[in-house]
Amino acid sequence: MDLDSYVISPAERPSLAVRGDTRRFPIRRILCVGRNYAAHAREMGSDPDREPPFFFSKPADAITSAATVPYPSLTSSFHHEVELVVAIATGGRDLDPSTALEHVYGYGVGIDLTRRDLQEAAKSTGRPWDFAKGFDLSAPCSDLVPVAQCGHPAAGAIWLSVNDARKQSGDLADMIWSVPEVIAAASRAIELAPGDLIYTGTPSGVGPLVRGDRVECSIAGVGELRITIA
Ligand code: MN
Repeated sequence: MDLDSYVISPAERPSLAVRGDTRRFPIRRILCVGRNYAAHAREMGSDPDREPPFFFSKPADAITSAATVPYPSLTSSFHHEVELVVAIATGGRDLDPSTALEHVYGYGVGIDLTRRDLQEAAKSTGRPWDFAKGFDLSAPCSDLVPVAQCGHPAAGAIWLSVNDARKQSGDLADMIWSVPEVIAAASRAIELAPGDLIYTGTPSGVGPLVRGDRVECSIAGVGELRITIA
């Protein structure tokens, strides 16, 4: 990059480590699917009927692979949501579900950290979710695992524990919209591009975190992620 072509120094591009590779995965956008497990949709007060998936986003620099995440400002209801993260290698628009997986680079274990009180306020007032979902360091993610190592996980345990107590427990097979369907749906709304991440929704059992909590989560065949709330 020619630094002389900018009036200020450009921010560093967010990226994630890749298992078994010294090179990193550069991140362009972070898309997130809402209510993609029926039991979680119900716990959030929604009907889990198979409505088309809906998306929100986090800024790319919300990603973090740090072992410690600070308790954020403006909230007293800071929630965990463990999610399978899909990393897009090749983009496109109007992708077909039957070939959507060809666009995947790999997978990770992520947490969609949420200021639940701000989200509830946004829902009730019809305001945007941005500061409920897209705040600094709101997207912890494990190292990515290339498809060559993990295939395309479509079933298997996904769980999250807080201080060794199991809080969320589900199975990837319980997703209302499968990974290829999620990719296809997203690509009808925007053109996907290399470096996009998609957080694919969380199983039931979301709940609050407080300072000092040790959060551990796992997705069978993909990996683990551990963070502590500071
Ligand atoms: Mn989520």
